[in-house]
Amino acid sequence: MLLEGKKAIITGGTRGIGYAIACRFIEEGAKVTVFGSRQETADAALAKLKEAYPEADVWGRTCDLTSLDAVVEAFTAAAEDMGGLDTVVNNAGISQSAPLLSYTDKEFAKAMDLNVTAVFNGHYAGAKIMEEAGHGGTITTTSSMVAKYGQPAGVGYPTSKFAVNGMVQSLSRELAPKSIRVNAVAPGITKTDMVAALPDEMIQPLIATIPLGRIGEPEDVANAFVFLASEMSSYVTGAVIPVDGAARS
Ligand code: NAD
Repeated sequence: MLLEGKKAIITGGTRGIGYAIACRFIEEGAKVTVFGSRQETADAALAKLKEAYPEADVWGRTCDLTSLDAVVEAFTAAAEDMGGLDTVVNNAGISQSAPLLSYTDKEFAKAMDLNVTAVFNGHYAGAKIMEEAGHGGTITTTSSMVAKYGQPAGVGYPTSKFAVNGMVQSLSRELAPKSIRVNAVAPGITKTDMVAALPDEMIQPLIATIPLGRIGEPEDVANAFVFLASEMSSYVTGAVIPVDGAARS
């Protein structure tokens, strides 16, 4: 197993890509704490994980990811539950699609708060705990393929993911001497609930633009996170790994 005995925090781990990451981490032997936006969703995800993996060590928590103090406190408590912390996955995020003149500064700030500030907070809290424990670890963030070419609406979303890539590249260099590897995974269109609910006439034209000829499954993305949290990637840091079927639209 690739993550035997590793202790992992996964934000936005209650559904979609984050839930698939939690499943794959557990299958590879990790202890996992999933963070959700509310305690009820965290509890529901926890119950689902316990049913699927009765032997697994899993916890569910919530906190305001946009508050540094709250994240340090909650990550510290999660590390105490698990007996340490080896890997953080900053996956919680929101997407937006409003055109510029229907957009507001409040919406823009919302994307920045969760997709950028919360990711900074996750790096800070994770690195603090790992450094105090005197060992290294990994921190991996969910970016997006929109951080390559932007997207033609909802400007806050691609802007936030470009920022994620910059943060990852900078912190990989800063934290490398502490043996903390910092990377990102950049998914293309991935079949989470929202995408799965789209009608076929919307999905088919999208698929036509993807050279691999299909939409990504959450497990496709989760496998890249397993690699980056494992010793298989021991010389990989500062990378943004695309998992997008070579989509370029
Ligand atoms: P999702 O909406 O299914 O899941 C989002 C997760 O983030 C949930 O667990 C939710 O609880 C959490 N979350 C949302 N708002 C929160 C808040 N304010 N505070 C705390 N947690 C909050 O989305 P998903 O598609 O699984 O997306 C996960 C990540 O993948 C995001 O960062 C997203 O930008 C990225 N991404 C998704 C796709 C895609 O096609 N699905 C493509 C590229 C990147």
